[in-house]
Amino acid sequence: MFRARTVVRGVMNWNFEEIQETVCKEVAGVLADQELEALRVKYLGRKGLIQEIYASLPTLSNDQKPLVGKKANELRNEITQLIDDRKIILKEKQKKSSHKSIDVTIPGVSSTIGHTHILTQTINEICLAFENLGFVVADGPEIETEFNNFTALNIPIDHPSRDAFDTFYLEEPDPNNKGRYLLLRSHTSPGQIRIMKDMTPPLAVIIPGKVYRPDAVDASHSFMFHQIEGLLVDKDVKFSDLKGLLTAFCKRLFGEKIKMRFRPHFFPFTEPSAEVDISCYICDGKGCSVCGRKGWLEIMGCGMVHPKVFEACGYPKGKYTGLAFGLGVERITMLKYGINDIRLFFENDQRFLNQF
Ligand SMILES: [Zn+2]
Repeated sequence: MFRARTVVRGVMNWNFEEIQETVCKEVAGVLADQELEALRVKYLGRKGLIQEIYASLPTLSNDQKPLVGKKANELRNEITQLIDDRKIILKEKQKKSSHKSIDVTIPGVSSTIGHTHILTQTINEICLAFENLGFVVADGPEIETEFNNFTALNIPIDHPSRDAFDTFYLEEPDPNNKGRYLLLRSHTSPGQIRIMKDMTPPLAVIIPGKVYRPDAVDASHSFMFHQIEGLLVDKDVKFSDLKGLLTAFCKRLFGEKIKMRFRPHFFPFTEPSAEVDISCYICDGKGCSVCGRKGWLEIMGCGMVHPKVFEACGYPKGKYTGLAFGLGVERITMLKYGINDIRLFFENDQRFLNQF
């Protein structure tokens, strides 16, 4: 117990200055809440120093009573203030140290690991299938010239089939073609033109990428979707090569059991042209809801490269023949996984994407 007192003329007297100094030092040295509480009990508790001083008041002279009483009150307030201040400082220190310390016993939070989007998986799968057949994957820009997207592919400016391949035009003029504007490619076929302008046959390339059409969005249409273009040019390439190549590819993608069907069709940049069907791999050609009871699924378009396309690329007349094909990545993916709405691919809903 604190005993800073002197006896003056037989009366117990308290050295308030010394007490205050001592309390200051003690409180400043406190590092834990329990120590602070111990000091509070020691000075302000029921059996503490302040109470002891109050208890001694009746033994004092009438002159001293009010003076000592006043000093005792002041000392009590000061000690209370010192302890309160220290409490705040300790709390701040605890907060800071708790930020630094790591409790290794708390169970960890595992971070989510992303995965390849289902469309990219399909693109990779298709590209790999063709790479195994000797093709090289190439790339083309999404912003194209009107020449590459239309004219060089035998779609002249006044040809009605431009409507089928219509697209979004940019305000940027085509630097190489006065009066025409750049556009977002409406198919991956302009990639053929770029490759043939740059390379001399023999060549076999596969060109995946985004394409754009001014279509209203619904369950089967999107203003942006993905295509994969294939091109093989050499001397003496025949339609039978095209059939053999696409049959090998479709069997690899959909299984050995499927049957193939080539239906005559029109594309401006190939002649002859065909649409390729496979027998429905779900119902084995018997007819189901996926194939619309027809037993066949339309998979891609193809044909032999039109002589006008070779001409636009500057190839000598009659020197080369080639085959080309194009397929929609969304369509193949929807068929393969039984997805009924194209919008699901682009809504970024994790519940959908995490299934694949
Ligand atoms: Zn079917």
